[in-house]
Amino acid sequence: MSEKQKVIVIGAGAAGISAAVRLANAGLSVTLLEARDRIGGRILMQHDPSFPQPIALGAEFVHGLPPEIWEPLEAKKIDIKEVEGTPWCFRNGALIPCDFFSDVDEILKKMDASSPDESFLQYLRRTFPDSKSSPNFSEAKKHALAYVRGFNAADPDRVGVHWLVEGMKAEEEIQGDRAFRSRNGYEDLLEIFRSQLSEANIEIRTQTVVRSVHWKPGEVRVHARREENALHFIAARVLVTLPLGVLQASAETEGAVPFVPSLAAYKSTALETLVMGKVTRVVVRFRRRFWEDMSPAGSKKTLADMKFIFSDDEFFPTWWTAMPENLPIITGWAPDDCSEKLQGQNRPSVVERALETLAKLLSLPKSQLSDLMEAAYFHDWQSDLFCLGAYSYGAVGSTGAQKELGAPLDGTLFFAGEATDITGHNGTVHGAIASGHRAAQEILDSIGSLTA
Ligand SMILES: Cc1cc2nc3c(=O)[nH]c(=O)nc-3n(C[C@H](O)[C@H](O)[C@H](O)COP(=O)(O)OP(=O)(O)OC[C@H]3O[C@@H](n4cnc5c(N)ncnc54)[C@H](O)[C@@H]3O)c2cc1C
Repeated sequence: MSEKQKVIVIGAGAAGISAAVRLANAGLSVTLLEARDRIGGRILMQHDPSFPQPIALGAEFVHGLPPEIWEPLEAKKIDIKEVEGTPWCFRNGALIPCDFFSDVDEILKKMDASSPDESFLQYLRRTFPDSKSSPNFSEAKKHALAYVRGFNAADPDRVGVHWLVEGMKAEEEIQGDRAFRSRNGYEDLLEIFRSQLSEANIEIRTQTVVRSVHWKPGEVRVHARREENALHFIAARVLVTLPLGVLQASAETEGAVPFVPSLAAYKSTALETLVMGKVTRVVVRFRRRFWEDMSPAGSKKTLADMKFIFSDDEFFPTWWTAMPENLPIITGWAPDDCSEKLQGQNRPSVVERALETLAKLLSLPKSQLSDLMEAAYFHDWQSDLFCLGAYSYGAVGSTGAQKELGAPLDGTLFFAGEATDITGHNGTVHGAIASGHRAAQEILDSIGSLTA
């Protein structure tokens, strides 16, 4: 293969990096353009000099046993631990240990991809009409709604049953119901990415914001800006790994990257039926794990091994600790409409709101929590101009949309990123990596077919 073949990759997230490394290792000259001053995209680890562990503000868990993540971590002998502990639910003003997962599973497993597609909310109402005779089941339905909203960051009235079934099937194959973290969280994978990029001699241009992409078969002109300087890049092939939110943004939206001619002409179903979920995330760091010795009213058990708190709070319904690590941090998760309500608010007001919720859930005065708090970290993903949302999901009628979004155009524009994953793992790091590998192969095949 000619060493002169040049590829530009837009976006240094998991998808862009994985593709760039494959392409460079196959002998191509790769330039990676990244708007931020760092690589990783939605893998965002905050380093606080006063705390030994990096804090995850984007991806945190390894869902199941995906080879895309386990293989590189195991090759470096990095310790991976399963998330353990007790889930608690906030009911009637107090926390109680709860296990609703098998009930939720029962609801989810009855979804059927051979029936016409419908939203999860429609499915729930049609299949399990309200019944006074089984109040426990109403509780299970609430948990199922909260699960879809929380885990998929999806609006239950929009997310398609077919998309959910596809994801569940894919998860089953890798035991996706189990969650893991490596020793330093996703910082470990970032470190592996850094050394792969450096070994493959890839030119990385950070703080380079792509402003528009002009293309015709065999030629792409990428217009970008680095601080005050306009930059232009030309290549016969460009791999686009921009997040779905950026691809969907209308030209007048800040952060949008217009394509000329427009992508909408080629990828209309995808851009209309895939949805960017919303998440605001807060991590609160305390002086100590004060909840260790607390026993909620009516419970003999302490919160020492608490892993999750589930509630119907209107802002931060879900919380989790670092279990099995004994770190003094708790994460608050505001998905979908909860996140919309917080959108654009500044850090102090979001943290204040989070502390109010946590104080209510733990039945403690907020002032006590504020005194115990050492630091708080937050990220509002839908206000992040280089993402415009958290991660993607499929709405009703989205079958095939990921494939359409990821399909190359004229052997010139190629696409990767979690929203283009066709293996059922959208919205995950391993799905993003798989999409990067798929796109790299498509590029290599297109070059191979020219040189053959
Ligand atoms: C809050 C949150 C929690 C998550 N939790 C998990 C989890 O626990 N486990 C899991 O597996 N997954 C999780 N995910 C999902 C996972 O992080 C993503 O699916 C994955 O990281 C996406 O990788 P990507 O390469 O497709 O996109 P990105 O990582 O978004 O990469 C795209 C890159 O394009 C860059 N870019 C954007 N605009 C421009 C521009 N104009 N010019 C140049 N560059 C640009 C961006 O800065 C970014 O670096 C989470 C995501 C979020 C937001």
